[in-house]
Amino acid sequence: MTVSTHLQTKTIENFIDGKFCPSSTNQTFADINPANGETIAQVASGNSTDIDAAVSAAKHAFDKGPWSTWSIKQRAQVLRKIGDLILENKELLAKAETIDTGKPISESLNGDIPRAAYNFHFFADYANSLQEECYTVDKNERHIGVYEPLGVCGLITPWNLPLYLATWKIAPCLVMGNTCVLKPAEWTPYTAYLFAHIIKEAELPDGVFNIVQGFGPNSAGEALTRHADVASISFTGETSTGKAIMTAAASTLKKLSFELGGKGANIIFDDADLDEAIPVAVNAAFRNQGQICLAGSRLFVQEKVYNKVVEAILDKVKHIAVGDPLDPKTQMGAIISNEQLEKIQSYIEHGKKEGKLQIGGTRLKEYPKGNFLTPAVFTDLANSSRLCQEEIFGPVLPIVPFKDEAEVIEMTNSTKYGLSSSIWSQDINRCHRVSQAIKTGIVWINCWFARDLRTPFGGQKQSGIGREGGKHSLEFFSEQKTICYRYKNK
Ligand code: NDP
Repeated sequence: MTVSTHLQTKTIENFIDGKFCPSSTNQTFADINPANGETIAQVASGNSTDIDAAVSAAKHAFDKGPWSTWSIKQRAQVLRKIGDLILENKELLAKAETIDTGKPISESLNGDIPRAAYNFHFFADYANSLQEECYTVDKNERHIGVYEPLGVCGLITPWNLPLYLATWKIAPCLVMGNTCVLKPAEWTPYTAYLFAHIIKEAELPDGVFNIVQGFGPNSAGEALTRHADVASISFTGETSTGKAIMTAAASTLKKLSFELGGKGANIIFDDADLDEAIPVAVNAAFRNQGQICLAGSRLFVQEKVYNKVVEAILDKVKHIAVGDPLDPKTQMGAIISNEQLEKIQSYIEHGKKEGKLQIGGTRLKEYPKGNFLTPAVFTDLANSSRLCQEEIFGPVLPIVPFKDEAEVIEMTNSTKYGLSSSIWSQDINRCHRVSQAIKTGIVWINCWFARDLRTPFGGQKQSGIGREGGKHSLEFFSEQKTICYRYKNK
């Protein structure tokens, strides 16, 4: 099986022009398992020379075809095969994702990997239904708007949902006829490497898909954003990195798509169905160790039900199973890196000075070499505190009371972020009013994390630029051209 023979690899290489290769300098860095500190593999440390080679291969593949000249229907067949192969290798990919990220195996197996496959199946179907425009000006003249591929696209992805988010970009990019270079996050190179073996088995022409592993600033990531032959950058990551990429991409005026940080507000009104809202609030805060851009990382509760909700949340949080990510019963695994763990701990220390730590925030003694942290809940924090304003990207939940609609709208909109929010209430008119007043790219009403992939996905304010999903992704990965026909009416 494609992936099984490579699961035990000790070397994770670049993938350029259909071949696996070390970095041009032969330099490597260690990929660490965050649950036990062990080295999974040595990873090729890509640099600007490797980016040049990958972009050159992608450009050659684009210019010579056939990928870029095939019909969407032909390309969609290859996408379907890739999706099928991901599903065939689901268990192995899930294990690799869990070892690399520290996330519970139940999430990799039931969430990340099936979604990676679905990204290919979805865009294979959806792209076939993409409509172009045609206007009949008079009987001798028609004006049509068509989609054409951009050329070589740069894809830069984060570590929290590695294969899920990479494939969310790769599938629409490829189906529109582009070729690409992927730069995965340095902490999670593993499933991208395994995915390259799937790409080979699916017989995607050489050079259409390339991977350069390595670092971001002053290295592979930055070289990709600056490269003159790269037409666009689709980036998911931190807001500060988005700003650096925007600066680097300015000199070649690339098309940019940014999915950036968030500080999701979860709002529980006093008429909410608490039996539904409370378990979802806990999941929204702590799923994937709180390392989700869409996390409900601030919980606002209306005064009348505040004490009741806090008590119920604490009761649920103390039963969350934190531990070995490969154990199917584990609900929270390890934090991605020691660096990230220390950052979260510094927020917890800060929170203790400004508010009250009700539960959690401690390391697990039984895993001295693993980055495990118990889920932390704070009360008595002002919404202006750092814990309520800044993206922690870890298992830390402040619960803050509010008086009325006007106050909670103001509190929700008070951060620089505008990615997501949830409203819990049984009053449909209130839900409608509040959802309109909130400045986030997505608002969930009596739910969280649900989304039809055809709908636009992205952030307002400093949470992003542009939208992904359905036709929004396909339009980003295309040039639109207008062709005006005039016929002789003989
Ligand atoms: P980073 O911004 O640190 O890194 C993301 C990617 O960018 C990595 O591959 C990284 O490489 C690379 N990179 C870093 N600096 C540069 C640079 N100067 N030029 C080019 N590439 C660069 O994000 P994280 O990986 O830490 O991911 C967490 C962040 O992602 C959170 O803020 C989260 O909210 C956000 N996110 C947003 C989502 C959304 O849809 N809005 C979804 C998921 C996450 P390296 O790994 O080497 O640093």
